[in-house]
This record gives sequence, C-alpha cells and structure tokens, in this order.
Amino acid sequence: MSARDCDFLIIGAGIAGASAGYFLSRHGSVALLERESAPGYHTTGRSAAFYAPSYGGPNIRPLTIASGPFLRTPPDGFTGTPLLTDRGALYIARHDQIAALDAFEAALRPFEPDIVRMDAAQARERCGVLRADYVASALFEPECADLDVNAVHQGFLRGLRQRGGSVITDATALSIVRADGKWVVETPSGVWRAPVLVNAAGAWADQVARLAGLKPIGMRPLRRTIVILPPPPLFSPHWPVVLDVDDQFYFKPESGRILASPADETPSDPVDAQPEEIDVAIAVDRIQQAADIPVRRVENKWAGLRTFSPDRTPVVGFDNQGAGFFWFVGQGGYGIQTAPMMGRLAESLIVDRRMPEELAGFDVTAATYDPDRFD
Ligand SMILES: Cc1cc2nc3c(=O)[nH]c(=O)nc-3n(C[C@H](O)[C@H](O)[C@H](O)COP(=O)(O)OP(=O)(O)OC[C@H]3O[C@@H](n4cnc5c(N)ncnc54)[C@H](O)[C@@H]3O)c2cc1C
Repeated sequence: MSARDCDFLIIGAGIAGASAGYFLSRHGSVALLERESAPGYHTTGRSAAFYAPSYGGPNIRPLTIASGPFLRTPPDGFTGTPLLTDRGALYIARHDQIAALDAFEAALRPFEPDIVRMDAAQARERCGVLRADYVASALFEPECADLDVNAVHQGFLRGLRQRGGSVITDATALSIVRADGKWVVETPSGVWRAPVLVNAAGAWADQVARLAGLKPIGMRPLRRTIVILPPPPLFSPHWPVVLDVDDQFYFKPESGRILASPADETPSDPVDAQPEEIDVAIAVDRIQQAADIPVRRVENKWAGLRTFSPDRTPVVGFDNQGAGFFWFVGQGGYGIQTAPMMGRLAESLIVDRRMPEELAGFDVTAATYDPDRFD
C-alpha cells in the first residue's frame, strides 16, 4: 500500500489530538488517525464537563486561565453555541476539614481574587439540599462554568477539516517506524508518512511510544466514575458544582438531573473503562452524607480514564531520542478546560520551538511540560 504524505501526523482524535490538529493545520497538512469509528469515544466523551480555574494546581492553572478567552469568545465560525455557561463552584468543608479549606483559599486567592468565603448558611443559600449538620464552611468560585465538550471537540475537528486536514477513523496505528527522516504509520485504513508525529493517544500513549521503539514515560490511566441521579424534590438547575475540598466527591445539576462522582482514581490498564458497582455505591453514599438527595435509582453511569504523568503535569514536547516524535499526553482530569491553550502550546513548541506568548505572564516554562524531566 503506498503511503500518503503530510506535514503533521497525529495519533488519537480525542480533545488532545483535535486541538493540536486544529492549530497545526495553520502551518501545513494534518492527518489525524483515530482507532475508533468516531472521535471522542474514550475519555473525551466521558467527562463531567466543567471549567474551573482552581482545579489542578499550579502547572494546570495557567493552561486553564489562558484557555478562558478562547472558550468565552471562540474564533468566528468555530461554533454556533456558547462553549461556557456560568455556574460557579462551591467547595465545601466539614468542621474537620476547615484547615484544608483555609489552605485551599490561601493558594487560590492570588489568582482568583473574586472567590468568596461563606459560612454554612450562605452555602445552603447557594445549594438548598446541603445538610446543615454536614457543611461547616465553604468557598465559592464564581469563574467556574459548564463546558459544552462536544461543541469544543467538534469545533476543533471542523476547523482542521476546513483547512484541508483529514480525520481518519478505524485507523489504529499498528506499526510506527522512522525511515528517510519521516515517521511511517501503518493502519487498517492506509499508511501515512510525516516528519512530525504527535502522540495524543491518551491512556494508550506509552503503547504508542513503544510501537515507535521509544521509551515509555510511565503514564498512569486512573478510572473515574460518574452517576446520574434523579432530581431531588427541591432541585434547582442553577446550583453550583458542589465539591468536597478534599476531592472525595462532587455533584452538579445536569440536564434536569444530578451528575455525581466519588472522585475515584483507580489504576487501570488502557481499556474501554466501565463503572464498578462499588464506586457507584460510594458515590451515592458520599453525596447522601453531604446533601439531602434521596436516591431511589441510578439512572445512568459511566467511567473514563484520566491519564496522568508521574508528576501529574501534562507532557508536551519532543522526545529526545526519537527525532520528530512529539508527546502530547497527561491531560489528566483537565484536558477539556485546558484544550485551547494546550493546542496552542503544541503548535508553538512544534513550529516555533518556543512557548506561546499567551503563557508569558505565568510561572511555567517549556521545561515544566518537557518529557526530558523524566529522564
Ligand atoms: C469522569 C471524568 C470526568 C472528567 N471531567 C472533566 C472536566 O470536568 N473538565 C475537564 O477539563 N476535563 C475533565 N476530564 C478529563 C478529560 O476528559 C481528559 O483530560 C481528556 O478527555 C483527555 O483527552 P485525550 O484526547 O488525551 O484522550 P482520549 O479522549 O481518550 O483520546 C485518545 C484517543 O486516542 C485513540 N488511540 C489510542 N491508541 C491509538 C492507536 N494506536 N491508534 C489510533 N488511535 C489511538 C483512542 O481511541 C482515543 O480516542 C474528565 C475525565 C473523566 C474520565
């Protein structure tokens, strides 16, 4: 089978591969290879869909904040619907968690001066089902918003196609070799060849590196469970996302129902993740301890893999052994809210070999995300 040439070859058409392809297609031809018959089948299609600048720590926050302008005012033609809808986040603490809430507030306030510390009564005004004997204090983050994940993902894919890029489904990368200065990738849907190969394979990123004959990083796919519960009698679609300050659970209104998670992080192989009954039970138990939400049945449930690098910071940069092999992995639990800036970061490091100007004011450098840090 003869190989088709392009400038940038990307493996994985989740939000990571789609965002990289969107920005790289401004500089040359892009082929985006996806194993499944539809992009977004794995982690990207299974998220909780919120944007919270506080979420993820100091190396994630710049990516989230710098993605805000794109998500609030996307480029012309990117989408017909708003990508962000204001919701707010309420981090809650029991009496024994007050010190954790104090520390969280102190870390956050320099970046988000608009956060509001609340007592139990004020927290219950925001979300009427919170139990008076559970919540002692809370922190409200107004910047948190609902994200239209599908609109963001499709916007990237559409933009990539409009600039002449291709999205090829049912295209598992089966073999990857370097020949004559190019990466040659064989799939059931054809053979592609490019000088630059972007590894955006999510939970499968180490497998892809091994296929290319390179050292894996030690990426860790961690399973997380979501349950959909019927609305309680006092339901309001305007409640904020309610999160335990120690990351033990969260819940929020979603299409007239309650979306909840036990915030589980169970190590997994890279697989089509499925929810375990025990995690569903833990979700229901933790939510019911904190809130007056009677659960007669679980209406829906799913699980997805949040894939982290060993230091939980994304890995973005060229491999120092494989010429032209670019890592774009480790988006963990923040890959949607950071996608615009992550895509720009990949574009800038690949095309200009430097950090994008949008990240200039933040305390991160190319070394923060470089795969070399694991050597
Ligand atoms: C329960 C849950 C809640 C979350 N909530 C949020 C949230 O509220 N906000 C937020 O920002 N993020 C959230 N996330 C995280 C976010 O969903 C991920 O960071 C993001 O989707 C990762 O995208 P990805 O493109 O790296 O991975 P994926 O979407 O998994 O894409 C990788 C793709 O690579 C393909 N692939 C793998 N190997 C090959 C191969 N050999 N050949 C071809 N294709 C291959 C796979 O088929 C897959 O489609 C959540 C995640 C979960 C699981």
